[in-house]
Amino acid sequence: MAIDNAPPTFDHSLITVIYVLGGPGAGKGTQCANLVKDFGFSHLSAGDLLRHEQNREGSEYGELIRTYIREGTIVPMEITIKLLENAMKAELEKGREGEGWANGKGRFLIDGFPRKMDQAMKFDETVCLASKVLFFTTTEEVMLARLLERGKTSGREDDNVESIKKRFRTYANDTMPVIEYYASQDKVAEIDSTASIEQVYEAAKAAVQNIFSQKDQTA
Ligand code: UDP
Ligand code: MG
Repeated sequence: MAIDNAPPTFDHSLITVIYVLGGPGAGKGTQCANLVKDFGFSHLSAGDLLRHEQNREGSEYGELIRTYIREGTIVPMEITIKLLENAMKAELEKGREGEGWANGKGRFLIDGFPRKMDQAMKFDETVCLASKVLFFTTTEEVMLARLLERGKTSGREDDNVESIKKRFRTYANDTMPVIEYYASQDKVAEIDSTASIEQVYEAAKAAVQNIFSQKDQTA
């Protein structure tokens, strides 16, 4: 645990953190994979890290994580934040080179996080202050159809109608306030993700280019 008033683990002038938010099935993971190719991000999906921890032999949190995910509720933030911080450290220890990674720099897409205000505050304060939020938005109807399609092959325990409805509720109650909070700080780039993957990607790419050109001007 960080000590009160201690600086965050990572300095945001070197480490660019972009949170990627949007409802379940909005297309976060798909668009992150595209952004990785064009901008050299390290892509960390909070949900994937939790599922990995759930299945890790010897994990003391396996059953707890499984239950939260099936119920579409939010795993206690200490667990998720620790997994993200460890993954960031591991990536930086690789000593990557190339665009965005020279001289102690790094760039991360943190996908599906923070889903609740307490997580947002804690991560910004103790791990790394986020630079921006990419917010993918579309209708529940579109998201439901995508999740049910994905559920045919994903093997995910939460890609079924019952869990999906609970996830929508958690998103509206807990995650929308996070987006509103960052919007009030002018940190949100909103992208309509109803169109095709290619069209949405054009908008996502432009938003990220914009983020880095603003950052260069203030560096
Ligand atoms: N989850 C969580 N905290 C997080 C991110 C995810 O507890 O910070 C849990 C939550 O139960 C969520 C599930 O993991 O419903 C799946 O998250 P994922 O991001 O994989 O879902 P997606 O939004 O991509 O459909
Ligand atoms: Mg995802």
